[in-house]
Amino acid sequence: MSKLEIHQIPVLNDNYLYLIKDPDSDAVGIVDPAVAEPVVEKLEELGWTLTHILNTHHHMDHTGANLELKEKTGCMVVGAGNDAERIPGIDLRLADGEMFDFGTQQAKIFEVPGHTTGHIAYWFEQSDALFCGDTLFALGCGRLFEGTPMQMWNSLRKFLDLPDETRVFCAHEYTESNAHFAMTIEPQNHDLRERFDLIQELRSQGKPTVPSLLGEEKATNPFLRPDSDHIKQTLGMPGADVVEVFAEIRARKDSF
Ligand code: ZN
Ligand code: FE
Repeated sequence: MSKLEIHQIPVLNDNYLYLIKDPDSDAVGIVDPAVAEPVVEKLEELGWTLTHILNTHHHMDHTGANLELKEKTGCMVVGAGNDAERIPGIDLRLADGEMFDFGTQQAKIFEVPGHTTGHIAYWFEQSDALFCGDTLFALGCGRLFEGTPMQMWNSLRKFLDLPDETRVFCAHEYTESNAHFAMTIEPQNHDLRERFDLIQELRSQGKPTVPSLLGEEKATNPFLRPDSDHIKQTLGMPGADVVEVFAEIRARKDSF
């Protein structure tokens, strides 16, 4: 079976948009269009016609071009049903566990509240692709603007069940600063040290660190590892439960 064709478009300071196409149909989508112009340019360059906007959450740097692109192309806007009033132009309201049909491809929808109350992620299993917005970042996670640590942990842990080869298409290039922070949380982690070096090298050459693989996130991202004994030791929280540890890591990152 074919996999999605995916073009990564860097915009604004550190946002990534993803222009996706199902090779076996006319379905063309843009994930989290912050701005319209680079999307329109890329569509013209590729000769594609936009059919869908896939939103992960309501923030302007993810939905800013919804209405303009919808007006220009007549595409369908897809987003979180439980946050529909904040998703401009929403047509299709999705909920946890639903399958979203994108041409011949299907995405499983995960409701992943924490960064915002109505945040969803799209998992295209046959393409090994997870579009997770501002929930999981390479070596980081989103700030808790509207949710609790427990909510965010329960959201992130859903991703732990997905295959290691899943590519994590997050919405921001925050990796270098996340890597510096991660090293303060689990300096004993050899995989993390190696990844830290690689990230430094990529960024010094101006290259993206996104997408990453879910397997490397599971092994090195402190926000997926609150049950690590090394992390508990570093934080001086032996015996604490995962949510307490997760909350402490998030709190430290907020003031890092
Ligand atoms: Zn956001
Ligand atoms: Fe964002």
